Order: sequence, then structure tokens, then C-alpha cells
Amino acid sequence: MRILIKDIHTIVQVEEDVLRTTAVKGSDMKYLPRLEKAWLLVNDDIIEDFGPMSTYPDNGNIVISAEGKWLFPSWCDSHTHLVYAGSREKEFVARSQGKSYEEIAAEGGGILNSATRLNDTSEEELLKQSLPRLKEIMMQGTGAVEIKSGYGLSLEGELKMLRVIKKLKRMTPMAVKTTFLGAHAIPREYKENRRGYIDLITGSMLPAIAEEKLADYIDVFCDHGFFTVEETDVILKAGGKYGLKPKIHANELAISGGVQVGVKNKALSVDHLERIGTDEIIALLGSNTMPTALPGTSFFLGIDYAPARQMINAGLPLCLASDFNPGSTPSGRMAFVLTLACLKMGMLPEEAINAVTINGAVAMELLANYGTIARGKKANFFLTKPLASLAMLPYYYGSDLIDTVFVNGQVQNE
Ligand SMILES: [Zn+2]
Repeated sequence: MRILIKDIHTIVQVEEDVLRTTAVKGSDMKYLPRLEKAWLLVNDDIIEDFGPMSTYPDNGNIVISAEGKWLFPSWCDSHTHLVYAGSREKEFVARSQGKSYEEIAAEGGGILNSATRLNDTSEEELLKQSLPRLKEIMMQGTGAVEIKSGYGLSLEGELKMLRVIKKLKRMTPMAVKTTFLGAHAIPREYKENRRGYIDLITGSMLPAIAEEKLADYIDVFCDHGFFTVEETDVILKAGGKYGLKPKIHANELAISGGVQVGVKNKALSVDHLERIGTDEIIALLGSNTMPTALPGTSFFLGIDYAPARQMINAGLPLCLASDFNPGSTPSGRMAFVLTLACLKMGMLPEEAINAVTINGAVAMELLANYGTIARGKKANFFLTKPLASLAMLPYYYGSDLIDTVFVNGQVQNE
């Protein structure tokens, strides 16, 4: 079936001839290729063609008028924890009364709280709770997403989470990448036996995950109070033996050495980066590792934002993701991530949009089919409500400016 969209105000992140195969970096991040007064033709699940209205082909079965509307490639959200059981609004209330995230974690809240709930929840129930979150972010413009395990912290719990992600992948038209995050925290029963838990990850969890082909990537929370650099190195190397590339949590709570150990293990991305300095930037400059900032977490926890300007000015690429999770970021709304990037991290709207489209696709190894509007790529995009300019999208931070969502060439409804 062919769907022809006409009178598009502007197609954003459009690629006319040579398709980019790498991330957008440094000063190039402020350039966002656009085509104004345009049409776009979808053939089944693929973008077949597009062009200026002066070349309008009039050959679609279905014609949609997009007068005044902008067309964006779907967001590529490369870091989420959207499979979880229950919610943690009690901690939210505790924080509003002055407790810090670390204090709550020390009292048995935080990740360990989610782990207890997850292990008490059936696979079926977990799937039932998680599917609406996936649908919600799709209607908010996300077309490709990475989802992590990490609330099981036991062999059965981690496998349960990864199996749920595998089922979600079959149930959604979105592209889904799966990351094994057994090293999200040390579970209570291993508090005095860290080595025992790491052995469980490397000796039992990883072989079982590889056997069922349940993960694409491996993640470790390399930070103060979680996993050390040495422990991270051991776990990443063990994952590498099963073909799992690293995507790691680094430098959220402290200058942890996480960036360097990620780069050393050829991590696809190092995520968080609220606390980094010149050494980390130098390490990233010599690598293909994608620095990824999660401004929603900084907002919700009231912590520093990753120094985006410093990284971009140094010539690095930057990716932005939601970090959707029950504790520190209960939102997968990427439009709000754009607002925070502009308002709190000094990024231009163009830079922020590059960070959540092409660079997000690179951080999930999906750029061949997602992340830009190009002939032959998947028809994953959305039309906005009429906008006078690009900056209106991050500016109206409370408004839902997305009008029509296409995923795999199909219009999606609530
Ligand atoms: Zn995270």
C-alpha cells in the first residue's frame, strides 16, 4: 500500500543522496538537514521517495494533507528501563520531604526495591504492565528503543525480564534492542559477597542468556556505591565472550573511571556522564564510544546535567536518551528531553534533535534503517501539529505537538 503525504511544511533530518553512516559530531551537530514544502511517499513499511512540492507525483493510493505540519524521523531512545513491576512514587514523596536518592537506596529503596517487586511479579503480569509504557512512548514519537534488564538481580529474575523484552519486541512495530544489566546493583543477599554475585553474572546468567539469545548488549552500573572499575572490566570482558557489546552506566554519581573502562572495552556508548572532566573527554575523543546524556534523570533527581557544551565544543558527538525507569526518571517523553537539553544543557534545538535521531540510532546500531528520513529506510516518522518554527517543539514543553505517528509505514492509534 502506498501512502502519499503532501504539503509538508518541512521534513527534518532528511538525507537526499549520500546517507551518513556515522554519528554527527562537534560543530556539525548544529546542522539539521531540512526540505521545505515537500511530499513524502511511503510504500508498505519503507520510505520510497520524497521531494519538493514542485515535483509532486500524485501516485499514492491514500493521500494525506500535512498543511503546516512538520515531519520528523521517529525518536531513537537508546537508554530505557521500561520493563519494571509496580512504581516508586513513595520514594518520590520521600524525596520531596528531603531524602536523597542515595539515602533512599541505602534504606533498601531504589533499585533493590524494584528488584524485590520484580521477583514477586509473574512474567505475564510484568508483560502486562510494561506493554502500555511501550505504546505510550510510541505515541510520543519514539520509533526505536533500547530496553534493559537489571531489576531481577537473580538468574530467574533477569531471565524473566529479558524474556518479557523478547515478547514485547514481537508485539510492537518499533525496533527494540535488548541490554543485559545484571550488574545494576549488588543484591541484598550478596552484600557481604560481591565476588559471589559477579560470579553468578559471569558463570550462570551470561551462559543462560546466550543460550536463549536474549540480549544484544551488556551494561554495568559503574559508579560510586555500585560496581568498581575492576569489577566492571571483569563483567564486560565476560559479556564480550558471548558477543555482547558494552553500553554502560558511568559517572552519574562520581568521577568513577566508568568512561575510561567503557572506552577500553570498546563500549558502544557510555551513558549518564553528569560528572566528567577533561580526562573523560580526552578518552572519548580517541574512541568510537557514543557519549549519552540523560537529562530527564538530572531533572528528576535535581543533580547536575552532563556538560553537553563542553563535550560538543571538544568535537564529540552527543546522544540524548530518556532513561525511562521507575526510580529516577518515570518518563519516556523525548520532547521533554529536548526541552531540558536546550534549557539546562545549552544545546540548540538542532543539536538536541540530532542527538535523539541520528546519534540515538548510532548508539543502537540502527542507523542503516532508522534515525533519518532517507529513501529505503523504515517509514518511522511523525507529523507534528502545525508549527511556525523548529524551536516551538522544545519551547512548548507541556504541549503534545505530535499529530500523527507512523511506525513501519502504519499510522498508529492509541
Ligand atoms: Zn539507566
